[in-house]
Amino acid sequence: ASAFEPVPLRRFDRPDAAALALADLGALRERLRALGANDAHQHRVLRLWSQARPQTSGRRRVEDFLPKPLREALPALSEALAGLARLHSLHPAEDGSARLLVALADGQTVESVLLAPGRTPGLCVSTQVGCAVGCVFCMTGQGGLLRQLGSAEIVAQVALARTLRPVKKVVFMGMGEPAHNLDAVLDAIELLGTAGDIGHKNLVLSTVGDARVFERLPRCRVKPALALSLHSTDAARRAELLPRAPRLSPQELVEAADAWARESGYPVQVQWTLIEGVNDGDDELQGLERLLHGRYAVLNLIPYNAVPGLPWRRPDWTRAAEMARHLHRRGILTKLRHSAAQDVEGGCGQLRARAVAAGAG
Ligand code: SF4
Repeated sequence: ASAFEPVPLRRFDRPDAAALALADLGALRERLRALGANDAHQHRVLRLWSQARPQTSGRRRVEDFLPKPLREALPALSEALAGLARLHSLHPAEDGSARLLVALADGQTVESVLLAPGRTPGLCVSTQVGCAVGCVFCMTGQGGLLRQLGSAEIVAQVALARTLRPVKKVVFMGMGEPAHNLDAVLDAIELLGTAGDIGHKNLVLSTVGDARVFERLPRCRVKPALALSLHSTDAARRAELLPRAPRLSPQELVEAADAWARESGYPVQVQWTLIEGVNDGDDELQGLERLLHGRYAVLNLIPYNAVPGLPWRRPDWTRAAEMARHLHRRGILTKLRHSAAQDVEGGCGQLRARAVAAGAG
């Protein structure tokens, strides 16, 4: 049984201008500065917000340490920040995970997922409304990119989730390709990684593989772990599956990801959505052996969740388990995973699609 109760769909019809003005952490910091906040004040306010802790609790209230104009503005500011990400609906799954449909201040919606309970309670966040990569098996990819999320909108998903349960790990693997909104994603990572309650290895930046990610990461103060969505070791097949991903070859991608894994100290998580008759053949097993042998990497095999209206199918579990065993025997660290919230209408983007169809998102 799930710890979460379903929450009915709610509507947010009017754009929230006060929240929209703070959609980027840069704008938020500017507002705090204008209210007399120095760097330490700003960090304190942003940290407490991202941790969903009240700004005004404790024996000595946090606000006592803030400049007066900021103290006076805090209630309105807190209200505006709450408007960045509001719970539209909550969809618990049998495994203890829960999909959240999150309403943004302009009425758009994105999905976050509270991951199934494990050693580290995790949250998967979205980085864009829609996505331009167009992966053929993904509902989000079918509608293209609608807009970028601001860095504060990304952090706001964490703050919202923390009103429901603790979050000690954040994976940037929801709707959108983080590399296509890299400034905002890295800004959000920097705040979450310096707030003091999430280790850098528990911030996981996911990408289909983009040279900009590999260029920027070494210059970042907070060093996130990396997940690489590979899905095929055959360049032509991968180009068909991920039609608008950058044309780096699987070999180049794995080499670049391996280099970052060694620099950051965390193994790269190679993501492989397993689709029947597409990338579950012996040719791919041989490709994986060749590409991943000796790499600082973990391969996550994730049997596909069928999406209504798309032709792709989930392979049977026996085949998936056989592949995992085969790779393990060849020295490739492989994990066979259920995808989060798989019994809640399948994969990423479906909650949003349903809400849009109903005229609510
Ligand atoms: Fe975009 Fe990820 Fe969907 Fe591909 S799988 S279209 S990168 S959201």
